[in-house]
Amino acid sequence: MAQTNSSPTAGQEPLRLDAAVIGAGVAGLYQLHQLRQQGFAVRAFDTASNVGGTWYWNRYPGAKFDSESYIYQYLFDEKLYKDWSWSERFPGQPEIERWMNYIADRLDLRKDIQFSTTIASAHYQEATGRWTLTTSTGQVIDTQFVISCCGMLSAPLERVFPGQETFKGRIFHTSRWPKEEIDFTGKRVGVVGTGATGIQVIQTIASKVGHLKVFVRTPQYITPMANPHYGEAEQAAYKQRFEELRQNLPNTFSGFEYDFENGPWAELSPERRLEILEANWKFGSLKLWLATCPELFTDPEVSEEISEFVRKKMRERLKDPALCDLLIPTDYGYGTHRVPLESGYLEVYHRPNVEAVSVKKNPIAEVVPQGIKLADCTIHEVDVLILATGFDAGSGALSRIDVRGRGGRSLAEEWRRDIRTALGLMVHGYPNLFTTAAPLAPSAALCNMTTCLQQQTEWITSCLVNMRSKGAKLMEASKEVQDDWVLHHDEIANATLVTKTDSWYMGSNVDGKPRRLLSYIGGVGQYKQKCDALTSQGYPGFSMQ
Ligand code: NAP
Repeated sequence: MAQTNSSPTAGQEPLRLDAAVIGAGVAGLYQLHQLRQQGFAVRAFDTASNVGGTWYWNRYPGAKFDSESYIYQYLFDEKLYKDWSWSERFPGQPEIERWMNYIADRLDLRKDIQFSTTIASAHYQEATGRWTLTTSTGQVIDTQFVISCCGMLSAPLERVFPGQETFKGRIFHTSRWPKEEIDFTGKRVGVVGTGATGIQVIQTIASKVGHLKVFVRTPQYITPMANPHYGEAEQAAYKQRFEELRQNLPNTFSGFEYDFENGPWAELSPERRLEILEANWKFGSLKLWLATCPELFTDPEVSEEISEFVRKKMRERLKDPALCDLLIPTDYGYGTHRVPLESGYLEVYHRPNVEAVSVKKNPIAEVVPQGIKLADCTIHEVDVLILATGFDAGSGALSRIDVRGRGGRSLAEEWRRDIRTALGLMVHGYPNLFTTAAPLAPSAALCNMTTCLQQQTEWITSCLVNMRSKGAKLMEASKEVQDDWVLHHDEIANATLVTKTDSWYMGSNVDGKPRRLLSYIGGVGQYKQKCDALTSQGYPGFSMQ
């Protein structure tokens, strides 16, 4: 088993492993732990200098959970779960990063993690049936299995505008935020992006900056976050639910603690519907989106009814008709892309130091030394520019590695043409490469991430153990099993309204990216059943030899 976390240099003998795990975030840490428990020689690699994945990189002001803290935890070990206590329902990034460090320390994972190491290429060797990984510093790793735990939202869209390098002030992408405190006092700050990230940044820094300009292209439906403090009583109460959560979360629609429970929407009276909507709104979480009714995702009338409910709530808070026009969506349905939770976001626009600039009809043309220049040549001068411009989601992280499968085929090239996977767990043509949070699984977007990443990594571990017990060295998804999965995925996806709305869910935020719903929308529970059936039936459609 690999024992050190030092980084060997080029020229040395390749490091020989059973399994290389790429990433030391929620999936990578647990994958490493499981494989080590099973006696595999395994090492994890991460570009970051410490554990955390998403929670290492996204340290921008206001970054926080929007899954309830107590369901974001791992549920495989009761003591590990109960020995950690959260200070609130939706804590911020520093606390989450501390929790990830607690996990790494408690499970003694660091000795098998190589930090500050970027995997640059992963090439399958047909002669040996093994993979050769090369790091950006030239270290070579020879491994039987590669397990991608590099995350669905980890390839940031940083170079968005021409001229960014000419900007005189500091420019930050939210997911590459520096560790040191940034002092915004008296500064003119521009924020591009009003997704879940932009909203958290904007509501957090508005009161700290001199002047804030928010460049708004597509407005967002919002849902207010209810974020009570947790003292000992609240912590004891949620810890008592450990077994219930462990049983229920993997079997719901979205991996959260709530599920659809109101019956067919059409059979409810208008009064009852309103009662449900008001209750879910007040609940202050993603419940309104993920557990009001499944028809929200498929029925245009239900979508419009619930969207209008949210618009009305937003109008009541915004008051100013011009702001309502700019900030309330009208041309897509609530929940047809990711719903952000917020705390006082809309009220920020009433502040005298905050200005919303519409860039829908008059788009941002380039960044100039003084700030942002729009298509009509207006220049908005700023001292600091914050890009909350999102990610090349799902496929981006793996595509940025030069992954070559059988016959030298390139994963990045294949996914540039068409994004296909077998249950988001393997890709035909890439034997022994396993993926988590990859396209066409719920973990690509529509899930409480830890629920889905536990399920996927456990499936992968069981697969490797199965192979070992059978003396098999190679596993690969057949073209047929992948084609069947893509067909099934598309049938469910195309019956929903989600595929009609542009967003990172559909890959439409990246020029030239093939359009397909990245996340499986058949439900977390249904997906798990399909994965479990593969295991119990001996992996039909997958070759094992
Ligand atoms: P995002 O949802 O993709 O939002 C990117 C924003 O940048 C959009 O408002 C987009 O506008 C804007 N943008 C991009 N290019 C632009 C351009 N050229 N001109 C003007 N505007 C431009 O990315 P995100 O906010 O980082 O969120 C990504 C996901 O991360 C979320 O959906 C969520 O799943 C996750 N997240 C989770 C949390 C949490 O609470 N746990 C927090 C933050 C993020 P358009 O919409 O017009 O393209």
